[in-house]
Amino acid sequence: MHYTGTLYRNPYEPPSPLLEITQGCTHNRCKFCTMYKDVPFRPSPMEWIEEDLAEIASYQPHTSRLQLIGADPFCLSFERLDQICDLVHQYLPAVTIMTMAARVTNVRNKTVEQLKILREKGMSEVNLGVESGDDWTLDMIDKGYQAEEIIEQCRKLDEAGIRYWMTFLNGVAGREHSHEHALHSAQIFSQCHPAVVGTGGLTLFPGTPLLKDAQEGKFSPLSEKEMLEELRVFVENLTCDCFFITHHTSSANLSGPDFLARKPEILRQIDDLIQHGDLESLARIRSRKQTL
Ligand code: SF4
Repeated sequence: MHYTGTLYRNPYEPPSPLLEITQGCTHNRCKFCTMYKDVPFRPSPMEWIEEDLAEIASYQPHTSRLQLIGADPFCLSFERLDQICDLVHQYLPAVTIMTMAARVTNVRNKTVEQLKILREKGMSEVNLGVESGDDWTLDMIDKGYQAEEIIEQCRKLDEAGIRYWMTFLNGVAGREHSHEHALHSAQIFSQCHPAVVGTGGLTLFPGTPLLKDAQEGKFSPLSEKEMLEELRVFVENLTCDCFFITHHTSSANLSGPDFLARKPEILRQIDDLIQHGDLESLARIRSRKQTL
């Protein structure tokens, strides 16, 4: 198999073969991320993709799912993705579901009609690393789009019937802008129809511009308690039903389906953690994290 640099698979996906179709990240500028820092972006050569499909077909010929990997493989043009779908079906005719990570901006270069064709060919789910719905925060972390575009591109996915995940990056706005980040993110996410909303807590990894800002006093990271308080504002204001996932460094079982029905219980558990949680141990767990 051809795998380049960091290999990230969605841990919530059922086990399925990983097919690399791009290398690196088209953006590579988010201030909290170094995942693909040393991997220049390029589409994987079609010959490599074909060789890898032949290899997958040799050991898992009846797989019905594939994870297409790379930082944001959905950036590829409609024509290229369409060609990849055809190649997948040639080698793996049982595949009906292909999932992949995507940036909001990856949807720009595709019409709804093109998205519908990709969905019919099996590209039925994308994992959008949205991070925030607050314009100040999106600019500060250099995400490369603003809140209005999140709604615009998600509407295209809705119309095409492509399921999408949206992630909220807890803590990334720092202390001064925490409330606006949580509130505006919830308001923007609530205007979309995500199948899954996932929240992860910010860890300042070595080599990230955000860590440098923190060391120079230009960014004030949240404490574990403040992270939970921010998560509470986000949850309280989120009004779209979805499967809710949180990777917060706590043992509370906040993840599961039917978000709206469970929302009062999720808020109760967050309140309980804020008041009685072992916040020092949460901070220790976070400090041991090595990667996103
Ligand atoms: S967070 Fe995602 S889009 Fe941003 S630089 Fe990292 S891989 Fe690229």
